[in-house]
Amino acid sequence: MAATPKAAVECNVGPIRFLPGPNRGRYPHCHSVYVEGAGVLIDPASDRERLTRLRDEEGVREVWLSHWHEDHFAHLDLFPDAIVRIHPADAPPLADLEVLMDWYGMDEPENRSLRERWAEYIVSGFHFRPRPESELSFFAPNEEIGLFPGLSARVLHVPGHTPGHVAFFFPEPSVLFLSDYDLTPFGPWYADPASSLTRTIASVRALQAVPARRWIPAHDGGVLTEAPPALWDAYIEVPLSRERKILDFLSEPRSVDDIADLWLVYRKPREPLDFYRWAERATAKKHLKRLAERGLAVCEKGLWRRA
Ligand SMILES: [Zn+2]
Repeated sequence: MAATPKAAVECNVGPIRFLPGPNRGRYPHCHSVYVEGAGVLIDPASDRERLTRLRDEEGVREVWLSHWHEDHFAHLDLFPDAIVRIHPADAPPLADLEVLMDWYGMDEPENRSLRERWAEYIVSGFHFRPRPESELSFFAPNEEIGLFPGLSARVLHVPGHTPGHVAFFFPEPSVLFLSDYDLTPFGPWYADPASSLTRTIASVRALQAVPARRWIPAHDGGVLTEAPPALWDAYIEVPLSRERKILDFLSEPRSVDDIADLWLVYRKPREPLDFYRWAERATAKKHLKRLAERGLAVCEKGLWRRA
């Protein structure tokens, strides 16, 4: 079991201001960060009223997105005049709602209704407005950004959760914004078509090696004042133990639906059922592909078994 990290509900570390999202920043919310003196807001999907006040009273010059997911851009529409920066690999879904839906991989015929409902929710619940590439600015690979004398930000490209996921390290106050490598007991999400569990694990280990003294995940907890090795190990163990269970289960030929029926991600059926089934299937398919690549599983006539 992971050691329980110490967490503060809200705190500033030097000019780095933690803006907690509602309900501990759980989906559909996240935590935001505001860099005082620089007017930089990271992941504008925390409290909408608070972000509106921040814009009106203190000003937001730039919005930085850690990645393309809706629970990180939900209130981006409040900042039409701000420079919006993202890694170029994550730009396509922001430009087009249909591309965004494609990036979720809801392309099977049985998911047509889910896709339509989900697209409506992205617009109504997350205020999606298309942002073509011409309206975005891009982070350069591992860019170091001077914010003002005595404060810089390193943009760390940590793909896996999404291809263009970035984390932000502020070396002077030793603060690392982890975004969705959030060290929660739920573990990482790697079920999008362009997600990779293998790259997720490499990115988590890369983030673990950053010499930070405060860690800010985008969900749950708060500002972590310690992040012991056991916490990182437990986070990676979530998908790895899932994968071991799947490999055990493949002692008999199994379909993707058989694996989804195990509810290895959400533990039990939840509503809306078609959404959670889709997530279980997408996750199962990711593991099966990884097992096949390593020569541990094969598929014959739609059924998977151990190699
Ligand atoms: Zn995400």
